[in-house]
Formats: sequence, C-alpha cells, structure tokens
Amino acid sequence: MIKVGFMGGTFDPIHYGHLLAAETAREACGLDEVWFIPSFRPPLKENEPGADGSQRLEMVYRAIDFQPHFRAMDVELERGGTSFSIDSIKSLQALYPDREFSIIIGSDRVNDLPKWHLIEELAGLVRFIGVERPDEPIDLSLLPAFIRDRIDLIKMPLIEISSTEIRRRVRTGQSIRFLVPEKVYSFIKRNQLYES
Ligand code: ATP
Ligand code: MG
Repeated sequence: MIKVGFMGGTFDPIHYGHLLAAETAREACGLDEVWFIPSFRPPLKENEPGADGSQRLEMVYRAIDFQPHFRAMDVELERGGTSFSIDSIKSLQALYPDREFSIIIGSDRVNDLPKWHLIEELAGLVRFIGVERPDEPIDLSLLPAFIRDRIDLIKMPLIEISSTEIRRRVRTGQSIRFLVPEKVYSFIKRNQLYES
C-alpha cells in the first residue's frame, strides 16, 4: 500500500507551519505522499474564509510547487457544503484502493477530535498523526480510548505561525514575508487578499 498523509485545512493562507508539519509527518511516519486538501467550509470554524476556494487552492499549489511528495487535491472544494473529513476519506478510499490514508493534524485539532463529525466511524477508517503547536499542549488522557489508540504523536520544531495571525498582520499593514513561501506572498499582495 502507498502511504498517504491527508493534510486538511482551510489554508487561508497556507504557511510554513503547515508545510513543516507535513514534511515532519512524512519523514517520521514513512509516508510516501502528503495530500493537501483545502476545505470548502470547515465545520468547526465560525468565520467565512477570507479568500475564496480557488484562491486558497492556488496558494497551496504555489507553496508545494516542485515538492515531489506533495500533492494538492480539490475534493472538498468540488464537493461543496460543509467539509467533513469522513466524507473525504470515504471517497478517497474508494477512488484509491491502493493507498492507506492517515490524517495529519496540529494539536488544536487533536484536542477537538471528540467534536468531529462521525468520529467513531472515522477513527475506524484511519489513524491520526498529531503534531504539536505552541500554546496547545496535547493531553491524550482527556481523549476517549477509541481515539487515543488511533493517534501517533510526532515531534516537530514548534512553529508559532497561524493563518489568523497572517490575516491580522496584512489587515494592520505588517509584514508577512518569510511566514509564507515567496510565491504565496506575491499572490496575496497581487490579489490584495486579507487587506480589509
Ligand atoms: P486559522 O488560524 O485560520 O485556523 P491555521 O493556521 O490554524 O489557520 P488551518 O488551515 O486551520 O491553519 O490548519 C490546518 C491544519 O494545520 C490543522 O490540523 C492545524 O492544526 C495545522 N497547523 C496549522 N498551523 C500549524 C503550525 N504552526 N504547526 C503545526 N500544525 C499547524
Ligand atoms: Mg486552524
């Protein structure tokens, strides 16, 4: 089986925290590929994304350009509606029976796994790879056993970057250079994303 890391997110915009999480998980867990899958509408977020789906996908393409193990997939953008991981995993497993999927998530997402749609079913279909984020310690003992047993935690250098902070910086006229790849930076500037 080809091992694939499913890296879901709003990617509004994609930044170096996402890329390092993907690369660290790939190496630590011996993944053959990581697929970046932008959500159409994230179930647990209140605000609408600042950039539209095609712009967020375009930024992902620009960020992973020339990385042989990374791919971008538009399954959730194409499906529309609320983007539940269970729906994406089921359709990907049916479309790619030669691949074994794991879901890569930061510690904020690890801690809210119990709130995920149909989490019991999802935990039966995939394993999770958890990476730590600053200020979001993972306490596995707070998770039910059926989730805990399906998570591998891996170490990565803590990266204090979030898309929320990037959007805030643009809005207030601060620099976001070197928080995102240069080709993402130029796309944001050229399209005047996140300015208001
Ligand atoms: P927002 O602030 O809009 O929520 P975000 O930076 O959290 O954006 P998301 O698109 O919500 O980015 O996250 C996608 C996935 O990447 C999630 O699993 C999240 O935990 C993980 N992630 C995001 N930033 C980091 C980071 N700096 N280090 C490790 N994982 C991260
Ligand atoms: Mg987030």
